[in-house]
Amino acid sequence: MTENKFAAYPLDPSIIRALDVLKYTAPTKVQEKVLPLLLNHQDVVVKSQTGSGKTAAFGIPLCELVEWEERAPQALVLTPTRELATQIKEEIFNIGRYKRIKVEALFGKSSYQSQVKNLKQRTHVVVATPGRLFDHIQRGTIDLSKIKTVIIDEADEMLAMGFIEQVEEILNEIPNKKTMALFSATMPSAIARLAEFFLKNPQEVSIETAPESKKKIQQQFVRVTDDTKLNTMKDLFILENPDSSIIFCNTKIMVDKLMSSMERMNIKVNMLHGGMEQSDRSQVIKDFKRGYFRHLVATDVAARG
Ligand code: AMP
Repeated sequence: MTENKFAAYPLDPSIIRALDVLKYTAPTKVQEKVLPLLLNHQDVVVKSQTGSGKTAAFGIPLCELVEWEERAPQALVLTPTRELATQIKEEIFNIGRYKRIKVEALFGKSSYQSQVKNLKQRTHVVVATPGRLFDHIQRGTIDLSKIKTVIIDEADEMLAMGFIEQVEEILNEIPNKKTMALFSATMPSAIARLAEFFLKNPQEVSIETAPESKKKIQQQFVRVTDDTKLNTMKDLFILENPDSSIIFCNTKIMVDKLMSSMERMNIKVNMLHGGMEQSDRSQVIKDFKRGYFRHLVATDVAARG
């Protein structure tokens, strides 16, 4: 096997081994820039998109910096949605697998009590949405005194969803943080101000190139009126005959409508929207990834990550 390029960084062999298993053999652009900074405890503001490998760009240093013996959480990742929290938890779990890193995800609409129970066990990294983390802080069910590294992921999304004040309050509750990184696809002024206030002389990293996945996407549009929409959609489906597809709709009602109409065409399809239980949503995404069904009708809960 050719040597893993990550071996050039000061990383524990257990982490390199995990990266081998993940088939991460060379750093992506954002990883190349961010890894050395975070490993050196340097604050950083990163402008980059999903698909650039940004999760591992902070996940790898977090796993490296964690001291296994310490029982209280040492690193915190704040992220806007449950789906992202789950994905980040999985990525960090995979990277930290052989170092036996414990990751806990805290988000709403899942059992508060089981989160409290898990937090009492050894937890190295906490990945959280702001609302649920705030609940834990207010009820005194999380110890933030040992948190040294804080990652703010998709800051512009958190702003758009109205979480920014909560993020600021949370940051004020972390007395001993030493290293911070803020990731955002865009830099609205509220985010730039937050970075200026909370980060120490941050290095700025900007990855402008489109992620590989985007370069492969060809975009087309068809102008339709409301009453011809469903029929045009059917025609397109027959014409294009895609192996697999995700169809995004604005509303849950439209998701229901389209799903029924596709089922009438004998197309095996499933749906995903914010009104569904978290466990059902996760199951649908898993089944889609495994190819149990090939077409998914969704609201934009499925779009991020
Ligand atoms: P992200 O931008 O974090 O959503 O990552 C996009 C995708 O790139 C994910 O599926 C990762 O598993 C994958 N990925 C991240 N880093 C690497 C790497 N160094 N080599 C290959 N794939 C990677």
